[in-house]
Amino acid sequence: MFNSFEYLAPRSWEEACGFLREHAKDAVAMAGGTDLLVRMRERILQPKYIVDIKALPGFIGISATPGGGLSIGAATPLNQIARSAEVQNSFPILAEAAHSVGSYQVRNRASIGGNLCNASPAADTAPALLVLDAAVRLTGPGGSSRQVPLKEFFVGPGKTVLQPGELMATVEIPPLLAGAAGAYLKLARTKAVDLSQVSVAVLALATGEVRIALGAVAPTPVRASHAEDLCRGRRLDNQVIQEVLAATVAAVSPIGDLRASREYRLEMVEVLTRRALGRAMAALGGN
Ligand SMILES: Cc1cc2nc3c(=O)[nH]c(=O)nc-3n(C[C@H](O)[C@H](O)[C@H](O)COP(=O)(O)OP(=O)(O)OC[C@H]3O[C@@H](n4cnc5c(N)ncnc54)[C@H](O)[C@@H]3O)c2cc1C
Repeated sequence: MFNSFEYLAPRSWEEACGFLREHAKDAVAMAGGTDLLVRMRERILQPKYIVDIKALPGFIGISATPGGGLSIGAATPLNQIARSAEVQNSFPILAEAAHSVGSYQVRNRASIGGNLCNASPAADTAPALLVLDAAVRLTGPGGSSRQVPLKEFFVGPGKTVLQPGELMATVEIPPLLAGAAGAYLKLARTKAVDLSQVSVAVLALATGEVRIALGAVAPTPVRASHAEDLCRGRRLDNQVIQEVLAATVAAVSPIGDLRASREYRLEMVEVLTRRALGRAMAALGGN
């Protein structure tokens, strides 16, 4: 059962951000509602006001930026992202990650911004966007606007750097300056609708750079920076791969919960990272 609440659908950013700041204790923004309404049904949240932000101008859509990057409106549904030819051609790892969320029906409502702002450590789009070096643009009351690298956006489970009245407006993906190939692997208890037990995104660039990010194995989605450093300028033979896997495992701090034990998650980090590295390397055409 839901508590009773007032539903508002502002038409301007100023109105939405102003109201959300003024009623910071009682109002909550809603995009697709697929996380929010579950928490309300479970009475974890009982807001007085729901501020539906989907109709804000320019909030839905995918547009190319100079040099080959993309700007994605934060309210864009995940199905639109998974099916987008621009995303599939330029950043297929994001299309894969978006496609792995929930069910077709969930993805029709679930937005990319909601996936990130909900700040679940298991959010599927986060590892893919982290290896793409994505940033997010936050808009606040009075027209304030700031860009935050995604790796600085998450603060803890359910916590982000968003200030009262601030909304995520866009997700910005910079161009990849070299040929690249990646893989997003998600392990869940079932192949149907479930959050991940462990997820791994690997992006290998033709320059020799390798980027690794993980989900569901730390308080926030994380980049395995030391493991990435170990790849730089080296041929990834078996010995180097062992070092990289050990450093990846050292970068995470999983908990045990209803989805998996800590020990299982640690083992699966190694297995999935090895697999994702192999796929990315093979797609790049060798070592
Ligand atoms: C059956 C089911 C299966 C699911 N499976 C998965 C899964 O496999 N993987 C996965 O990652 N997730 C899964 N989810 C969770 C959920 O669908 C996603 O996290 C979704 O992307 C959330 O987007 P939304 O638009 O529905 O967010 P909402 O529920 O509308 O919002 C979520 C939170 O973010 C805030 N918010 C939303 N948009 C903005 C914005 N632009 N600016 C500031 N704050 C904002 C809201 O205030 C709220 O706190 C599942 C959910 C369900 C119900």
